[in-house]
Amino acid sequence: MNPRIASINAVASCVDGYDPDALPVDAARAAIRACLAPVGGIERIATRSVLGRVLAEAIVPAIDVPAHDNSAMDGWALRAADLKHDAETVLSEVGTALAGRAYAGTVGPGECVRIMTGAVLPRGADTVVIQEIVKADGPRISVPSGQKPGQNVRAAGEDLKTGIPVLRPGRALTPADLGLIASLGIGEVAVRRKLRVAFFSTGDELASIGQPLAEGQVYDSNRYTLHGMLTRLGVELVDMGVVRDDPRALEAAFRSAAASADAIVTSGGVSVGEADFVKQMMGTLGEVLFWKIAMRPGRPMAFGRIGSAFLFGLPGNPVAVMVTFYAFVREALLVLGGRGDDSALPLLQAPAAHPMRKVPGRTEYQRGILYRDGTHWKVKSTGQQGSGVLRSMSEANCFIVLEHARGRVEAGEPVPVQLFDGLI
Ligand code: AMP
Ligand code: MG
Repeated sequence: MNPRIASINAVASCVDGYDPDALPVDAARAAIRACLAPVGGIERIATRSVLGRVLAEAIVPAIDVPAHDNSAMDGWALRAADLKHDAETVLSEVGTALAGRAYAGTVGPGECVRIMTGAVLPRGADTVVIQEIVKADGPRISVPSGQKPGQNVRAAGEDLKTGIPVLRPGRALTPADLGLIASLGIGEVAVRRKLRVAFFSTGDELASIGQPLAEGQVYDSNRYTLHGMLTRLGVELVDMGVVRDDPRALEAAFRSAAASADAIVTSGGVSVGEADFVKQMMGTLGEVLFWKIAMRPGRPMAFGRIGSAFLFGLPGNPVAVMVTFYAFVREALLVLGGRGDDSALPLLQAPAAHPMRKVPGRTEYQRGILYRDGTHWKVKSTGQQGSGVLRSMSEANCFIVLEHARGRVEAGEPVPVQLFDGLI
């Protein structure tokens, strides 16, 4: 291991409430966070391809947007100084300004110019009156009283101003950002390279799709949920398949994953009393901590580093894989990928539709359905909450996150809810 990097254990153990055998969710998250720094690597890519990528440079406008004062409406451009306060003002139209075709002259006293939305405001004019309220009789234009100086004009630079940064490094770029970058005429953007994440399932009982299911076997579903969750994060995937509970196979898999990826995510083999090859091998090849987290589902988890790759050893139960991924891995990968903006998932409050059993001393991630009951939103459980019941994740549209210290929930009590929408 790189000796310049501080020991994971030394860093994690400094976190408040750090107890590897009964680790509160927040302490585990803080311990992971304390060990991470963004990985290096920047590439320049075309603006149209940067959606979701993490910006590596500040975007600083070299031009004003809009570049000129222009009209926000179709109508007539005029001088506010000409307007009478309490009577109609009659002006004479001296020309036309269209979007992309400016009026070349200057608007003098008593004059106005026919103008269309987006057209540059002619010299001399400072106000636009909309066409719906104007009486036009040939070049004779009558404007009613009650107009405000400067109305219906978009000022140069009101959207973006030269020299004032608009997007900071570390931001995950949105569709609006793409448009904003394009509005500055910028065709290429520096973004962080995509994180490479290797993942595999461990277990002698796992069959891959396409193989017949022998007695006692289950199909490997975790690799598919992981594939889906990682894809949504926009990382580069290295799918390493199923690895048997066999020391040599595990060693080869970990070594190859560590050599090719920034992070490794595995499922299975970290439970207490497991035929312990996975844990042993993780511990032999790198610096890995084994945690019992005060949460349900998903108690056991390994976190550490093998070579320069961070390792997230998730439990094998299908729901536990997803819960621990969203509770810990998602944010960790975003940090490694250079996300500097707040990437934590929002928690909303919704009233519980029914009582919920809960024991204090652990965080519970119940699978919930947020639904509309008349004019109000409520949240109910999907029912069976076993950590092997993957159907509960599929039926749910949210996690009901019952906090560490909380006990039983009564009907109508507000509970924190984390929506899946756009996420899984
Ligand atoms: P483990 O954490 O390895 O003790 O596994 C816990 C439970 O999850 C066992 O019932 C396993 O059969 C199941 N399991 C482990 N890995 C997978 C997987 N990749 N797909 C589906 N189920 C799994
Ligand atoms: Mg196993």
